[in-house]
Amino acid sequence: MNYDLALFEETAARFGLSFSEEEKARLDRFAGMVLRKNEVMNLTNLTAPEDVAVKHLADSLLLLQAEGLPESGRVLDVGTGAGFPAVPLAIARPGWSVTALDATRKKIDFLEEVRGALGVPAACVQGRAEALGKESAYREQFDLVTARAVAPLYVLAELCLPMVKPGGCFAAMKGASADAELAEASRALRELGGELEQELRYALDASGEDRRAILLFRKVRPTPAKYPRPYAKIKK
Ligand code: SAH
Repeated sequence: MNYDLALFEETAARFGLSFSEEEKARLDRFAGMVLRKNEVMNLTNLTAPEDVAVKHLADSLLLLQAEGLPESGRVLDVGTGAGFPAVPLAIARPGWSVTALDATRKKIDFLEEVRGALGVPAACVQGRAEALGKESAYREQFDLVTARAVAPLYVLAELCLPMVKPGGCFAAMKGASADAELAEASRALRELGGELEQELRYALDASGEDRRAILLFRKVRPTPAKYPRPYAKIKK
């Protein structure tokens, strides 16, 4: 069972992204693992091969359009789920050491299988971002922290920014609500040490309906020690 390789390539090419045969073969293997696992457990709610090709793989890799990303270093994907964007990014950027984090055990178990088969991600961690953000092994340790489809931006900022090194970046991969979320999160972002550096807006489909945004923040100040707070507090 293969995902739609031609559709993936076509979508990536629309954004000026191309991949080597080796990278495409590895992306293809990963997509196959996601589709097969989805038949026996609820890994992701997108189950059609063409959705995995475009809405998961291509969308994950569109982060690479951003300028100012680190060339190498440690990357953390918060709430990675079935491995998006962690695994496609790790395949396309071998210079990045990618850690995939999720609160759900079964998703991390799946990613351990992926790591066994493909050698990426570099590490798979089951845990909650708001707890790890207080631990010295995670706090301010990553050059780039990513998150796609995890929580509203004002929550996400508090989950992610504490783990970004000062000078590093936080990339929030968002849908059509990006502007409203940005307005709602502006105070939290400032307080946590993040500054908006780049906004990429694009439509994932050729008809222009599936609006997406990547918001890239630079960590310009260390995060005050009182953050992250417990999840229920963050949400209030
Ligand atoms: N990033 C993936 C998955 C999105 S679903 C994608 O784009 O397809 C959101 C995931 O975030 C779920 O797997 C959930 O377990 C995880 N999650 C939600 N809150 C979290 C938290 N506070 N810490 C760690 N993982 C979290």
